[in-house]
Amino acid sequence: MLCHVMDKSILSEINSNPIHGIYNPLSTDLFNNLPVAIYSCDEQGYITSYNKAAVKLWGRNPETGKDLWCGSWKIFKPNGDPLPLDSCPMARALKEGKPIEGEEIIVQRPDGSRRNVIPHPVPVFSAGRLTGAVNTLIDITEQKIGEEKQAILAAIVDSSDDAIISKTLDGIITSWNRAAENMFGYKENEILGKNINILIPPSRSQEEKTIIESIRSGKAINHFETVRVTKNGDQIPISLTVSPVRDNYGRITGASKIVRDITSQHQAQQKMQLYYQQLEKMNSYKDEFIGMASHELKTPLTSVNLYLQMLERSQEDERNKKFVKQAVNQIGKLTSLVSDLLDVSKIQTGKLILRLSNFDLDELLNEVAVIILETSSSSHAIEIDYDLTAKKNITADRQRIEQVLINLLTNAVKYSPYSDKIMVKVIHNGDLVRVSVKDFGIGIPQAQQDKIFTRFYRIEELEPLYSGLGIGLYISSEIIARHGGKLWVESRQGEGSTFLFEIPVFPDK
Ligand code: ADP
Repeated sequence: MLCHVMDKSILSEINSNPIHGIYNPLSTDLFNNLPVAIYSCDEQGYITSYNKAAVKLWGRNPETGKDLWCGSWKIFKPNGDPLPLDSCPMARALKEGKPIEGEEIIVQRPDGSRRNVIPHPVPVFSAGRLTGAVNTLIDITEQKIGEEKQAILAAIVDSSDDAIISKTLDGIITSWNRAAENMFGYKENEILGKNINILIPPSRSQEEKTIIESIRSGKAINHFETVRVTKNGDQIPISLTVSPVRDNYGRITGASKIVRDITSQHQAQQKMQLYYQQLEKMNSYKDEFIGMASHELKTPLTSVNLYLQMLERSQEDERNKKFVKQAVNQIGKLTSLVSDLLDVSKIQTGKLILRLSNFDLDELLNEVAVIILETSSSSHAIEIDYDLTAKKNITADRQRIEQVLINLLTNAVKYSPYSDKIMVKVIHNGDLVRVSVKDFGIGIPQAQQDKIFTRFYRIEELEPLYSGLGIGLYISSEIIARHGGKLWVESRQGEGSTFLFEIPVFPDK
């Protein structure tokens, strides 16, 4: 690889001792093997000699006595504009008869690669007459890349919103960016050389010791949330990331810190917490109201129901009887809505009590199927597949299990308007009994299958088409959970749904 660092003594010797007489520096092994590119031209600019480093730099061997001014393929100004060969520093040194210093050029090799070079062309005189020139080419490409990288890094550090600070292992601040100035109020020149403790509240003085211990052992600290003090004494919540800084030999010499001001994050969190508390409070008022209202509604509804039933019985006129019957039906629906609301309130307050008894599940299923067929205006057929291999009796809250079955079957009818079959299946499996209710209706999108068991959840798009409160499945899953079981759904949109629940046959066991 071409060495781009020229020994200063060689360069200054060439530059400070104008070469007089015809002197060909490349005639010696020393010059030929110099790690720095050197070449010479005669007074007309024809290349007369060059060393190995020059060939490496140009990527080609120029023809002596034929190539003019410079051995490289093409040359450019530092801004990338082409530089005609006869205007290159070597040409100008020969034309003006004086050395040209410090003008950067870019040389391009035949393979297209480019190098940044500082040429040092020095004219050679013999008895006062110009006889040629010697040019030393210093390759500064790597240095430029390093400088560019450095500049990018500096720009990043400077434009960062996070404070970026470095310090020695003794806590002495060695660098401080603009964001650090804004965050802590200290200017760079007033804080460099000071101890980092200046930013640490006395109550947290131990923290720095722990941080330094961690850094000394090579461990970084990530997103450590703490508090620091600004110049005017304000305490700000921050998130701190500290990493060890190593020298060229890998030794840890200090630490770099990235400090993020998390004041607004904190405020947002506090606000969120406040909103959440308010929401919780309002939610509990709402629950309380639902509980109270449904409780208050239940008593008059029961009375109205009773009176209507008496009225129904006492009616002679068939037309009137029909009207009263319809009124009884509607009151029945209203009563069940109010009971559901009351149940929600009971679940919320932990007052949903089970009354266990031993009963025949198949018999209950039959009863429920009859209720559904009687009360529904649809023409669905309910097929029940009993498990004939097992005992029918289970121990559970009969009324609550009936409520679950009514809910699942009512939904199966409601959400399958274009089909006419519902399949119910009972399977006893050891200590568990599983009941499934399958319909061939609209189905439930995968993403909403878990949500439908939560309180008041209804599939939004369907709301205008199907009436309901979104509490039936919530209550059902709570009832099943209280029995020590689970309720779930398997469904494909457009194909239908199967709701399944599984409970222990004898919950006390
Ligand atoms: P409601 O039926 O009163 O809205 P539920 O709690 O019983 O309340 O059901 C919640 C939601 O689940 C319903 O709004 C409906 O979108 C969906 N759902 C329940 N059962 C079925 C079913 N068998 N087929 C399709 N969707 C159903």
